[in-house]
Amino acid sequence: LWITLEGGDGSGKSTQAALLEEWLVGRGRTVLRTREPGGSDVGVAIREIVLHHRGDIDPRAEALLYAADRAHHVATVVRPALERGEVVVQDRYLDSSVAYQGAGRVLDAEEVRSLSLWATRDALPDVTILLDLDETAARARLDRSRTRYDRLEAEKADFHARVRAAFLELASAEPERFLVVDASSPVEEISAAIRDRVAAALRD
Ligand code: C5P
Repeated sequence: LWITLEGGDGSGKSTQAALLEEWLVGRGRTVLRTREPGGSDVGVAIREIVLHHRGDIDPRAEALLYAADRAHHVATVVRPALERGEVVVQDRYLDSSVAYQGAGRVLDAEEVRSLSLWATRDALPDVTILLDLDETAARARLDRSRTRYDRLEAEKADFHARVRAAFLELASAEPERFLVVDASSPVEEISAAIRDRVAAALRD
């Protein structure tokens, strides 16, 4: 079973991924927890470029870097784990590219999606959790962590609004794959909703 978590910065993806992993392990599952960008050896180097390069990266170059990260990650980490029967819990995947490189950097959403599907030989997760957080709540959360707040500050507010809208649109286009949760709800309420959805998927 392959589960991805999506959402903006500060939406609580890593907290929920950790809680989900703990629950799955408690039920006797072997879990691979991973993330993009940076979930493979090559990906670590690509993450350094896409997140810490000084100066702008051309949007198409950026989209290709994310796609390269994804290709190597799926081929060398995700697919082998799925083949071993493990549950993969992954922070960000292709929907992040459609939202950030597509809506955020204003590339064509369908082209970005096709690029990712080509890169991964059409690999799509079984379940995608979208932690939806409005801009005001996202800022309030990130305020607690100075570095990340700066990064959010550096990007335009309308960039985040576009990214959020794109995530919601993706979720409504594929309701069977997505579970949308309000990320401003209490952590325990969110993790219970995620557990219910994952338990149902494990029974399928
Ligand atoms: O998930 P994480 O917080 O590590 O992501 C770091 C940043 O990378 C995000 O805030 C986002 O700005 C960026 N990102 C992106 N496109 C992706 C994935 C992440 O722009 N496909």
